[in-house]
Amino acid sequence: MPANRPAIPRELDRKVRVEAGHRCAIPHCRMPLIEIAHIQPWAKVKCHEFENLIALCPTCHTLFDRGDIDRKSVLHYKARLSPFSPYALAEHPDHIDLLVAYQKFRVSIAMWLDAARAFTVAKQQGAGADEGRRIFRAAGDAAMEASHARLYLAAESPPLVAKAADQIMNAAVWGTCTTMGRPVPGEFLHLKPATDALPALWANLEHEVHEVLNAPAWKKVKLMPQRPYYVDELDEGQRQGSDSRSPNR
Ligand SMILES: [Zn+2]
Repeated sequence: MPANRPAIPRELDRKVRVEAGHRCAIPHCRMPLIEIAHIQPWAKVKCHEFENLIALCPTCHTLFDRGDIDRKSVLHYKARLSPFSPYALAEHPDHIDLLVAYQKFRVSIAMWLDAARAFTVAKQQGAGADEGRRIFRAAGDAAMEASHARLYLAAESPPLVAKAADQIMNAAVWGTCTTMGRPVPGEFLHLKPATDALPALWANLEHEVHEVLNAPAWKKVKLMPQRPYYVDELDEGQRQGSDSRSPNR
């Protein structure tokens, strides 16, 4: 590593590892010992960016550096890791419901934003009243579809994913209302997102989905509705003569 090259920030490093489930991203390798590789070489990009980083085992990393695995293939493997990729369904059969809900949410938000833009363009181009009404209705339908998709995703996912989806929903409400020149509904008024917040919010949601897909077995326990009681905690409660039903006090 050249002396003037900064280390990859810890959080970014972790995110790249989580994306690949702490295994080599080459599908038929999947070695659990990994390094972080730059898809476009560091010497060219001079920065560490999530989209340009991938987890590879030392062997695959060497093959990639030598050109035995070419850049286009590695880009393909990177795309494969995305929960939005059709490959994700085959790779995570335990999470098909979550992945389908996530993909549906993603598509329906994109269609909603498109419909809002189409409405504005039609207005600017002086579309007739009928055409204007048709496009306005289409945007309304798209909003409804997105709202259903959010509920579906919330039902299929743990709270952190649902929360990340809510933030996107809020940004999309603000985005479409602003685009279409409509008032923002009251319940969203106090939640004004930063300008152009959506890319970061999508990255956050994708990260949370990855966390679920790649959660180690011990972490899945947290998804249980109620934390199991531990014997020593119950003993502690009884010794203090307190209510043993609230061991967390
Ligand atoms: Zn490998």
